[in-house]
Amino acid sequence: MKLGDNSRRYGAIALLVIFELVFVGLVLYLCFRAKQPGPPDAESETPGLDLPLIGRPAINPFRYLVFPTDQVLDRNDPDVFQPTASGRPESALFGSVRTASYGKGLAASFHEGVDIAAGQRDAAGRPQDAVYAVADGAVAYVNTKAGNSNYGKYVVLTHACPSGMVYTLYAHLAALSPSVIRGQCVKAGDVLGIIGNTANPPIPLIQAHLHFEVGLILNARVNQWFRTHKLKNDHGNFNGWNLLGVDPLAVFERQRQCPDFDVFQYMATLPAAFEIVLSARRKPDYFNRYPCLWEGAPYRGAGLQLAVAEDGLPIKGRNATESERQLLGAHKSAILRVDPDALGRNGCHLVIYRKGLWRLGREGEKWRDMLMYY
Ligand SMILES: [Zn+2]
Repeated sequence: MKLGDNSRRYGAIALLVIFELVFVGLVLYLCFRAKQPGPPDAESETPGLDLPLIGRPAINPFRYLVFPTDQVLDRNDPDVFQPTASGRPESALFGSVRTASYGKGLAASFHEGVDIAAGQRDAAGRPQDAVYAVADGAVAYVNTKAGNSNYGKYVVLTHACPSGMVYTLYAHLAALSPSVIRGQCVKAGDVLGIIGNTANPPIPLIQAHLHFEVGLILNARVNQWFRTHKLKNDHGNFNGWNLLGVDPLAVFERQRQCPDFDVFQYMATLPAAFEIVLSARRKPDYFNRYPCLWEGAPYRGAGLQLAVAEDGLPIKGRNATESERQLLGAHKSAILRVDPDALGRNGCHLVIYRKGLWRLGREGEKWRDMLMYY
């Protein structure tokens, strides 16, 4: 046997071994791929969040709060708050405290924040009060045009709380601080602007005030939802429809009682105004961003149950039970129960009572579609 024959034989064996290794590797790779789900899984996906992040905080930014103006926010001091033209003190507070014209008649209207009166004015009656960031955070949005929102000129801060992103909003400002730039980090007490009366429609100067909100963001992809529905939206994720508040005065009161205050622990104490079962292939983005509000097993894709506050703030969610799913039938959603006490005056009109049944009204269907959009 020639040396060359051996070399060729060993070469052929080596090639065969390499070929088999490549083949086995290819088979293993294809098997592994076949086990992966096709579309992104709702439990593992975090949709793109067009929000400035300041990282996971070492400490809760709501541990240290300042009031948004020099006024001390005391629920029992009417001079601190700015009522509407009705003059009723409660019209400055959070909740279904107002009345508005809806079609043929007047009905309750929901106020998502508190209206803090101007404490200092110049000779022409223009407010001089500085507006402060209430907690450490980042500037998420600045609207510099007075006429393109009923918030007027406004600033939204986001606060990276350990359980998720909380927003605070400061509206109707007369002027904005030059240092308030999107993406900029702010410290509690930094000046954001001056109290004013900017809004669309404008607010009479005598009623100039700071409209202040605290809450959660419904959907991080709401801009696409507006585009899909060919609706105008100048404010991206920081359109008021996408911002769901909690009572700001309750936040300050609770924080004073508990220094390690957490908005999410507070939300757990809120009564559900209604419970709803929804048909959904995927868990809403809301629960991916606020996972502490999801209870029990990961979403199974066969209907979810939500407990919801009066203004549409989802307080908690879980997999729907079999009997709850059966109530859905072919519908997108079904109301499971309503607590009339927690629903109160129902100023958001998300649920309506018609022909002996509770159902989502037009506003409720819009809320549902925004929540479920992905
Ligand atoms: Zn207001």
